Amino acid sequence: MTERRHSRIIIIGSGAAGLTTALYNSRANLEPLVIEGIQPGGQLTITTEVENFPGFPEGIQGPELMDRMHKQAEKFGTKFIFGTVNRANLSKTPFELEVEGRFFTCDALIIASGATAKLLGLPSESQLMGHGVSACATCDGFFFKNKEIAVIGGGDSAMEEATFLTKFASKVTIIHRRQELRASSIMQERAKNNPKIKFLWNKNISEFVGTPQTGLKGIRLKDTISGEENVFECQGAFLAIGHVPNTQVFKGQLEMDEKGYLLTKGKSTKTNIPGVFAAGDVQDSIYRQAISAAGSGCMAALDAQHYLEEQEFKQK
Ligand code: NAP
Repeated sequence: MTERRHSRIIIIGSGAAGLTTALYNSRANLEPLVIEGIQPGGQLTITTEVENFPGFPEGIQGPELMDRMHKQAEKFGTKFIFGTVNRANLSKTPFELEVEGRFFTCDALIIASGATAKLLGLPSESQLMGHGVSACATCDGFFFKNKEIAVIGGGDSAMEEATFLTKFASKVTIIHRRQELRASSIMQERAKNNPKIKFLWNKNISEFVGTPQTGLKGIRLKDTISGEENVFECQGAFLAIGHVPNTQVFKGQLEMDEKGYLLTKGKSTKTNIPGVFAAGDVQDSIYRQAISAAGSGCMAALDAQHYLEEQEFKQK
């Protein structure tokens, strides 16, 4: 018979939401198991300075913040395993999960699997990924010392990545499909006041030009107003066009919106299946902040605890 390790609570994801859930549940002596996912520590591990997490007036590096959250959850008895959930059966309790050939069951499940950087979906994008095209400035920025690079997008991520990339690049051009930025005013101002950052407005990306052998040579752009096309020369291109939630394995089992974000009930983290809760970016397409993810992680922990208490009461 296949071995199944049972935990009262399993938390999928180890970002700000998952680790906060783990902290609360472990302090309640529930010994939660965290399945860390492909990026232990989540998106904050690939960000630089975090200036807006309360309690750190000098700012804190994203990886350090996550390391501290990990240690704090571990201190109270949280168990961790590496791996990604390939299959989930939520049709009966205990819930069943398959993690790269290993099997786990739990009485309550918290999904805090976060979101992944969105790509444009162009064939030339996948061909040149890692050869000049990237979706992670903190991972790859170092390779573009004194090079000309482009950042695609008009949100806070694009401003943040562009500002960070000026540490390496000779020039950074933010290419946006509209005339107006979506980013918050403080992030916009910071980018606009940086002498190394320029803007190109109303441009859609048609193609990344180059080969894996030559690397990126430029980006074919189409003006959204005139329809004119031209190639913008650069050696690096960083995508910062938003995220997609990591909910693939729950399709057909949990209710989601049209973009795949998990739906929760009212002011709670309850999904449509009793005993399954969702926290952090996987259920939040609006705020998507470290602090709001941590807050919803706390809510999920308390919702799960109440659920388990109710189940025990019913069994008596
Ligand atoms: P976002 O706010 O959704 O912005 C995505 C940007 O990419 C938008 O400007 C959008 O253009 C553009 N875009 C989307 N799809 C595109 C496509 N197919 N082709 C070209 N452009 C495309 O995403 P984000 O910047 O990742 O930010 C997400 C959330 O995280 C926000 O709530 C943000 O405040 C937060 N965040 C905060 C910080 C911070 O506080 N330090 C840092 C990063 C992110 P349109 O504007 O035309 O839609």
